[in-house]
Amino acid sequence: MKIVRIETFLVAPRWLFCRVETDDGLVGWGEPVVEGRAEVVRAAVDVLAEYLVGQDPLRIQDHWQVLSKGGFYRGGPILSSAVSGLDHALWDIAGQAYGAPVHALLGGPVRDSVRVYAWVGGDEPSRLAEEIAAQIDAGFTAVKMNGAGRTDPLTTPAGTAAAVERIATAREVLGAERDVAVDFHGRFSPAGARRVLSEIAALHPLFVEEPLLPEHGHQLAALAASTPIPLATGERLYGRAEFLPALTAGIAVAQPDLSHAGGITEVTRIASLADTFGVQLAPHCPLGPISLAASLQVAFCTPNFLIQEQSLGIHYNKDADLLSYVVDTEPFRFVDGHAHRTDRPGLGVTVDEAAVRAADRAGHRWRNPVWRHDDGSFAEW
Ligand SMILES: [Mg+2]
Repeated sequence: MKIVRIETFLVAPRWLFCRVETDDGLVGWGEPVVEGRAEVVRAAVDVLAEYLVGQDPLRIQDHWQVLSKGGFYRGGPILSSAVSGLDHALWDIAGQAYGAPVHALLGGPVRDSVRVYAWVGGDEPSRLAEEIAAQIDAGFTAVKMNGAGRTDPLTTPAGTAAAVERIATAREVLGAERDVAVDFHGRFSPAGARRVLSEIAALHPLFVEEPLLPEHGHQLAALAASTPIPLATGERLYGRAEFLPALTAGIAVAQPDLSHAGGITEVTRIASLADTFGVQLAPHCPLGPISLAASLQVAFCTPNFLIQEQSLGIHYNKDADLLSYVVDTEPFRFVDGHAHRTDRPGLGVTVDEAAVRAADRAGHRWRNPVWRHDDGSFAEW
């Protein structure tokens, strides 16, 4: 079997899909994207496709080596995301070729269902109580929200109080049996993060995500030692080598993104590495259905898995949502806040190719907001 064609599709709201076709007529789908830089990843996929076309799609481990390392320069969000999406598609093809779901090829399931959480609140959380109540009504047992919108790096008394109030509101609505995770989005400085963490510890967030920017990772060990709150990070880390310092620093939750961190092949390795630190896996996934399908395949066969992000109704999903491009929504039907395992082959997702091709004709130009402080200087989004 040989790969004969690789195509990419730029689809709303902000995604990029790839389609890998073989001479046997098998088709695998992937989601190679960096949010806001989709066109750049598309160009990277085109370059990597020069190597893959003509190759046997089932040599996934070898292709991962060549795609990740064969250009001499390696790593970073663009290349790693391009490799990630192609890796999804190769595993999808392998599953179809062997007549098995990807989790079966990775050693078989260790769980029957995967706990997922829902987003509430957007960038500047408001109306939280109503939004959380709606997610509880929909069956979710955990939500995630931003800890702050645009903020002074050290926070102000009012900013800290607002963060505490939001999380207290969430805790009140959720009760003690459900969870709230809080995303700092790297918006605070290390000192600001320490200040807010100390104020919210009593509200028992499930974890606090990206308490620091990746470039401040050398401060992570001190921050982790200063708080009882489990710290999470990883959506802007691109492989095992970048997770190792965070794991050593004492994070509790590793959040590789299946579309950024080297795909199924590398995220399973990251999961194993995390397990040696007693760290649990919570794959980042504010993206589309293929990235989520890849995440779920990993979750089904990873012992040290905690919870899965998913984008249904997320504030980014304008013009299209998680289910817009799938024929069969069953793998994404969340019951009591869980996705349930199916034995569909490959990634287990049936892409609506006509809808994808139509959406690609319109394309998108999604960019993240650029925020500024009151004095006009750049602010972290
Ligand atoms: Mg995040």
